[in-house]
Amino acid sequence: MQEKGTISIHTENIFPIIKKFLYSDNEIFLRELVSNAVDATQKIKRLASLGQYNGELGNLQVEVALDIDNKTITISDNGLGMTADEIKKYINQIAFSGATEFVEKFKEAKDANEIIGRFGLGFYSAFMVANIVEINTLSYQDGSEPAHWTCDGSTSFEINEGTRTTRGTDIILHINDESEEFLSRPRLQEILDKYAKFLPVPIKFGVTDEQEPDGEDEEGKPKYKSVEVDNIINDTNPIWTKSPNELKDEDYLNFYKELYPYSEDPLFWIHLNVDYPFNLTGVLYFPKLKNDYEFQRNKIKLYSRQVFITDEVKDIVPEFLMLLHGVIDSPDIPLNVSRSFLQADSNVKKINSYITKKVADKLADLFKADRKAYEDKWSDIGLFVKYGFLSDDKFYEKAKDFVLLTNTAKETFTLNEYKEKVEPAQTGNDGQLVYIYTNDPDKQDAFIQSANRKGYDVLLMNSPIDNHFVSHLEQKLEKTSMKRVDADVADKLIKKDDAPAHILNDEQSASVKTIFDSAINKPAFKVELESLSPEELPVTVTMDEFMRRMKEMAAMGGGG
Ligand code: ADP
Ligand code: MG
Repeated sequence: MQEKGTISIHTENIFPIIKKFLYSDNEIFLRELVSNAVDATQKIKRLASLGQYNGELGNLQVEVALDIDNKTITISDNGLGMTADEIKKYINQIAFSGATEFVEKFKEAKDANEIIGRFGLGFYSAFMVANIVEINTLSYQDGSEPAHWTCDGSTSFEINEGTRTTRGTDIILHINDESEEFLSRPRLQEILDKYAKFLPVPIKFGVTDEQEPDGEDEEGKPKYKSVEVDNIINDTNPIWTKSPNELKDEDYLNFYKELYPYSEDPLFWIHLNVDYPFNLTGVLYFPKLKNDYEFQRNKIKLYSRQVFITDEVKDIVPEFLMLLHGVIDSPDIPLNVSRSFLQADSNVKKINSYITKKVADKLADLFKADRKAYEDKWSDIGLFVKYGFLSDDKFYEKAKDFVLLTNTAKETFTLNEYKEKVEPAQTGNDGQLVYIYTNDPDKQDAFIQSANRKGYDVLLMNSPIDNHFVSHLEQKLEKTSMKRVDADVADKLIKKDDAPAHILNDEQSASVKTIFDSAINKPAFKVELESLSPEELPVTVTMDEFMRRMKEMAAMGGGG
């Protein structure tokens, strides 16, 4: 058996184009070839289970071997193998036409980064790092002959008799001069850790030495000898592939440590598991946020059938949940498309709202199950909840029952609870509720105390997101306005009957007020005398909320 031929594709030399596209991301050749090898082992398993293969399955495994002297990397599997005809069909036609399609599709792409790492070029990606690629394979089918294929990335190939004696395939890459970085064990280990860490079939990469007990020495002390054991780089059964009822908290925490070795334990997690109308599994963790708001984004890893694809999950995970950590695995997320297409994809939209719903439900459960524990976590989760509350209407519908407001006395309330609490004292004659807040409790302390003395409650709104949260509350809550504590709120509200009387009489009050008014001499400000003991502040100067916001906008340079 000896055959030379030309691969029938339209584009003469697609290799330079592909190389240009994927230059910065050429490490994915290993992901693609290892995935193919895993697929081949899964296929033989399937054939056996369907009764179409009656031979021994053996220990299904994939091996990556590095030969620095000969400058080769070999990816071997004991999967279903290929006959010479299948090589022609699957490699010459399918793999190469996939590559042609890729080039046709993205020749015009403006931003190569959009597609890098998202598009699996499949078998052809071998030519990004190799000048010659060999296939040595033996099909599982009875009476098959071993076949050998070799190609230099041009459109011509050669097929002759192979040397494999057992079922499976070796892909041998003769690494080109520009890609010598891959002729390094640590570099390959790194790539395998990134892409293959959770593949469903054991991936062997060389051997490691392990110490094994070996009797005792003359003094009766245990002796050890070193033995070589296979270096299996992956965990074939990561927790997201298991059912939640098989798992303990410890399993989730250990998996978190595996993903993010230097992080503090997460607060809680959500196990995602759906198979209709799309297939998705995963575990999302709520991390402990640092108070300095130094958030780390892009910590969610996207997998497709246990193959790592990317940690760029924007568009798939709702924006407000980008601070979560964890893993999402879905074969239904299109990987070979540009961002704008992804946003429009109906599965992606559904996945997005599914995740939002699961997160909302989890938070609602936590809130219901243990209010105290939920409140304790509020400083960490409040930001997510508020962000979602602001940015996602569906999430808002659920979050309005578990978003918490905190007042200056550090008490927390749900929206309903808070309404009930302040309604009696903070309703104006027009029936409008007024919520009073501080965005700087230190600087506004005098105002806070003064408001409290009048029987008004003051909300703490001093986190970076609270500016938006305040205006959103004002939009969403009926007949409610938000006023900063240094705005003139007092006379708009029904005064409480038991407000203490002024220590000055009316005449004294009037003359003190005149002195302050003329000293300040700005109509935007309002002077009010307080009924205080002499050691406290006798006067507050406030500004109308509307005027204050206008001024703030002007200061920000918005002007409109
Ligand atoms: P895809 O994996 O998306 O089908 P590839 O270009 O990666 O595309 O591979 C093309 C085809 O070549 C595969 O579908 C498969 O039929 C065949 N193939 C590749 N690698 C192997 C392998 N190790 N064992 C058996 N068949 C393989
Ligand atoms: Mg493939």
